[in-house]
Amino acid sequence: MKLTFLGAAQVVTGSAFLIETDENKILVDCGMFQGGKTLSELNYRDFSFSPGDLDGVILTHAHIDHSGLLPKLCKEGFSGRIYATKVTTELCGIMLPDSAHIQEFEAEIINRKGRRAGKKMIEPLYVVADAYACLNHFVPIPYDKTIEIVPGIKIRFRDAGHILGSAMVEVWVKDATSSQKLVFSGDIGQPGQPIIKEPSFIDEADYVIMESTYGNRVHEQIDKKEILAEIVNDTVRRGGNVVIPAFAVGRTQTLLYYFLELFQEGRLPDIPIIIDSPLAISATDVFMRNVQDYDTDALEMVEAFKKKTAVAHMPQLKFTRSAEESKAINTIKKSAIIISASGMADAGRILHHLKHNLWRPQSSVLLVGYQAEGSLGRRLQEGVRRVKIMGEEVGVAAKIYSFDGFSAHGDKNFLREWLEHFTVKPANVFVMHGEPEMAEPFADVVKNELGLSAYVPLIGDSAIINGRQWRIEESQEPCVVVDDPELQQIKDNLAQLEAQYVAYRQNLDKMATAKNPKAIEALKQLEVVAEGFKKFLTIFLKNT
Ligand SMILES: [Zn+2]
Ligand SMILES: [Zn+2]
Repeated sequence: MKLTFLGAAQVVTGSAFLIETDENKILVDCGMFQGGKTLSELNYRDFSFSPGDLDGVILTHAHIDHSGLLPKLCKEGFSGRIYATKVTTELCGIMLPDSAHIQEFEAEIINRKGRRAGKKMIEPLYVVADAYACLNHFVPIPYDKTIEIVPGIKIRFRDAGHILGSAMVEVWVKDATSSQKLVFSGDIGQPGQPIIKEPSFIDEADYVIMESTYGNRVHEQIDKKEILAEIVNDTVRRGGNVVIPAFAVGRTQTLLYYFLELFQEGRLPDIPIIIDSPLAISATDVFMRNVQDYDTDALEMVEAFKKKTAVAHMPQLKFTRSAEESKAINTIKKSAIIISASGMADAGRILHHLKHNLWRPQSSVLLVGYQAEGSLGRRLQEGVRRVKIMGEEVGVAAKIYSFDGFSAHGDKNFLREWLEHFTVKPANVFVMHGEPEMAEPFADVVKNELGLSAYVPLIGDSAIINGRQWRIEESQEPCVVVDDPELQQIKDNLAQLEAQYVAYRQNLDKMATAKNPKAIEALKQLEVVAEGFKKFLTIFLKNT
């Protein structure tokens, strides 16, 4: 058999693996690449296989970097089944149409600019109708049950403890000459997260294909509830709001759970808690409907609600779906906790709330998720004093708090512990889903500390597997060069600068043709600046 690493190789996003035997082709995950421009452009490439030839797809969980290209796959001819857990199926039911909205919106923005510059129009990656059509392919299957999806290939989902519905998947592959068991870790959760169960341990594997997002980092140990209580109480004393940018699926529900507990324990003041994100509200609905996947603590809370031994509801909790309701939040006079997307504060409704609160020394901003290089969240984390939000300069006077202990991914220590549990040791561990500075050191841990074989593939590499024998066939395609984030940031900034220059220049040209003497002078000066800048760029590019 052959296993090809189509994404999440030395990057975190774009999870996709192709299993090929003489008879069958199965895809595990079909994720979107996210991050800088070089990565996003990969989403527009043709699939390296023909989607119509696939016999099925196995999906580990609903996050877009694992599921986001499924509508494209279906649009381009895939007609088989997509196997996922029940909750993953329901979450995709809201997340894929939401992703399609974003695709349509972004294409529209690019085209609006492009039209003015006389450029060719681009097509969105997929549209909302494609996302809905794709949902018809989903077949929900339960955890812990072995199912033969095609002759010779059996699968079993195990709870990954990452987000509700997330799974690791065991895959038994049998063909004419060999048989082998592969374990795909999906995203491995961090133990101790509320609501969801602990990550499963698996005993046997011939090959492990595992994530390494935090393969070289140990999470800080913090008492999350304690910290939340302190920050909220302190902010209310100052008379401000607590603004929390949070990923709509997973993180928002975790925060809500902590706030619910704190409220029951009488440790929160009586202020509104507002969930301001339509996607987060829909995702919370899915969480509420699926208590069968909860851990025991969360189940006890549900039982207490039913028996009315607990406060049956949180009167303070408010969900705001419409844009009008969202805007009205900023007219609230007393303190509030506002949870909104996006988690990295680079888009979405959170921008409005930051605009209204960052300048206020009374307010607090709490960063609880991964903040990518270049995002507004990262800049706040780094302590900048001024930011630009929707074209407006805003001073930063609010208190900024930042914690990585809320992560939904296991850290280096847990990833190692998870591997140690295998009693039938894998013939090789393929280290995926991590930047090189995370994946490489983790591969060293696997080799040096656990005495196992490890390999960090590149996008497009294949493993030719025969029982416990394997070798790598390197990709024939030129390898995808993922720039280091800083360089990518510079490139993105330059592209933005160029666009601004073109627009400014066009305006000046117009005024100059109207014989406005000031515009003619400004145009001359602009040319001097542009020349100087070009010289600088030539030197800069030579040296990088
Ligand atoms: Zn994930
Ligand atoms: Zn992931």
